[in-house]
Amino acid sequence: MIPISEAAKIIKGESFSLETETIDLTDSVGRVLAEDVFADSDLPPFDRSQMDGFAVRTTDVGEVRENNSVKLKIIGESVAGKGFNGEVKRDEAVRIMTGARVPGGADSVQKKESARESGGKNGESFVEIFEAAKFGQNIVSKGAEIETGEKVFDKGEVITAPMIAPLASFGYAKVEVYKRPKVAILATGSEIVDINETPRKDQIRNSNSLTLKVFAEEIADAEVLPIAVDEIENLKSQIQNALENCDVLIISGGVSVGDYDFTKPALRELGAEILFEKIALRPGKPTVFAKLNGKLIFGLPGNPVSVAVTFFLFVRAALMKMQGATDYRLKNGHALLSQKIKGAKGRDSFLPAFVATNEKGKLVVESLRFGGSANFIEFARANALVFVPQDENLEAAAIAKILFLP
Ligand code: AMP
Ligand code: MG
Repeated sequence: MIPISEAAKIIKGESFSLETETIDLTDSVGRVLAEDVFADSDLPPFDRSQMDGFAVRTTDVGEVRENNSVKLKIIGESVAGKGFNGEVKRDEAVRIMTGARVPGGADSVQKKESARESGGKNGESFVEIFEAAKFGQNIVSKGAEIETGEKVFDKGEVITAPMIAPLASFGYAKVEVYKRPKVAILATGSEIVDINETPRKDQIRNSNSLTLKVFAEEIADAEVLPIAVDEIENLKSQIQNALENCDVLIISGGVSVGDYDFTKPALRELGAEILFEKIALRPGKPTVFAKLNGKLIFGLPGNPVSVAVTFFLFVRAALMKMQGATDYRLKNGHALLSQKIKGAKGRDSFLPAFVATNEKGKLVVESLRFGGSANFIEFARANALVFVPQDENLEAAAIAKILFLP
């Protein structure tokens, strides 16, 4: 039996990196950047007005007091997409729109609401400004947000939806990302029937394959294979076939010590290298990790909760690491325990939990009823895992370590 940290280290070491590919930006959410992203222009690219109003010189309008105003001649207009190319001189102003370039000579923008336009003779226009304008007011200066050549995102970051706007702004119509691992999912068990079937006596529906597919599809391309019965030769040939078409094979069930648990014997007979087969973890102790033909194989205990916990702790990490993700593990944090939790003898626990903030602004974690690792109906509410060190009990109101489920 090895500690969780040791298992994590072995997985990290074996998670080879996948090739990269170039894809459309709009398809890139959830993918891992295989290149650093740089700004190809200053943002804003020019001194930009934040208001509809008038581009002015503070030397002309700095002295406006209550009940008085200054009158400036309007010499032109600066519109978004078509700035004014002249120069604002003494007692002059340029009508300006939000997003437009501030013309030369002007050093401030006074908002429309503090001004009144009036016509003069010969078609000339004037504006009265009622409020003093400060230097730089309502102007975002060129390069204030970012300058050309600055790094925006790092290789290894997972692309999220809010990252699309900066990527688009800097011309990344296509981005270089790591290929998604190809995952094959194989449920084992002579009692397991397809979701479309009505289980007869002694049978249950296959929930693991669908769960694993949905979890894996977030970060990989996953395919569900036909269910394997508990029969060693059959299992061997299904494993062999599965390996032809995937980078990672996830097997559920058949990893314990029962007479019909054939996952490990099948792997051994096929010549797989078993990298570990028992972790000091609850739930998930009999988790197997092996390698065959350069492919990674996870054998997860068949209980649906164990499948979920071990997927998130180990398989997900491998799939993320293979894509070069810098943060390949679950996000961690701390929360106040809402109740006492008993630890397990000789094994660390990662128990399904629900976290939410309370009215005092504290993050509180509630361990979900855990009447055995098959309690997947409770697990359906889980949004975190709470850590309980081996041989310890955590008291209510203690601070516990948690992992957030993605
Ligand atoms: P095993 O790891 O094969 O001993 O299975 C442990 C428990 O999980 C047993 O109660 C199985 O019936 C159940 N189980 C195994 N595979 C699945 C599956 N694909 N879907 C739902 N439950 C399963
Ligand atoms: Mg079984």
